[in-house]
Amino acid sequence: MTGVNIRNIFGHVLNWIYPPACVSCGKPGALICEECLSKLPAVGEHFCTHCGKPLMKNHFCSLCGKSSFRFQSARAPYLYDGPVSAMIKKLKFSGMLSLVPILSQYLTEYWQNLGWEADLIVPVPLSRSRQAQRGFNQSELIARQFAKSTGIPCEGRALMKQKHTREQVGLNADERRQNLIGAFAAEPAFIRNRQILLIDDVMTTGSTFAECSAVLLDAGAKSVNCLSVATTSVNHGKQKMPDA
Ligand SMILES: [Zn+2]
Ligand SMILES: [Zn+2]
Repeated sequence: MTGVNIRNIFGHVLNWIYPPACVSCGKPGALICEECLSKLPAVGEHFCTHCGKPLMKNHFCSLCGKSSFRFQSARAPYLYDGPVSAMIKKLKFSGMLSLVPILSQYLTEYWQNLGWEADLIVPVPLSRSRQAQRGFNQSELIARQFAKSTGIPCEGRALMKQKHTREQVGLNADERRQNLIGAFAAEPAFIRNRQILLIDDVMTTGSTFAECSAVLLDAGAKSVNCLSVATTSVNHGKQKMPDA
């Protein structure tokens, strides 16, 4: 019997003793209840075709207007809001790993209609100390599950976070960018001439995707596209930024 089977059985027993409650509203029965599922905050049909941020119809993207993103495109199916932010926070800060297949499934369904090409999936890394403290990298877990569903290989060693940066919470876009300079390093052997799909849980100001893409392209990647489960709305000033 494999470890996964034992974990599954253990999970079923735990569900029987302690039935799950909805991570968003607390209603008992499922990790995410039907009502919250029907209220997932989609980005909608008006968004920036470069960075994926929701836009008012016929408006220019203020984020792309002041940034020079080198990735081809970034997209997210959902806004970092409501049940989606509740699921991501429970995964990251309470270690609810059973949310990984759900979040990854959102990405897989979205991917199927994107029409992008990728030959390597690379998760946004955490620093060694942050990963040791949390015990896992949520973006890597989501990326690996997504890789299984799509059949695209995933390489966690392609990109490393070599410097522990200060908390991004409370920093504005410029400070976030400064904070990340020199933070990442790519391994050329894995990425040379590859079409990379970079995966993260949440896109905020785009500074993490921007810095990772720059490092990957400088190390020889052919192209970089970015996908996250959620993206914050462009009006960052009024929203608390999620931490890595
Ligand atoms: Zn609910
Ligand atoms: Zn944009």
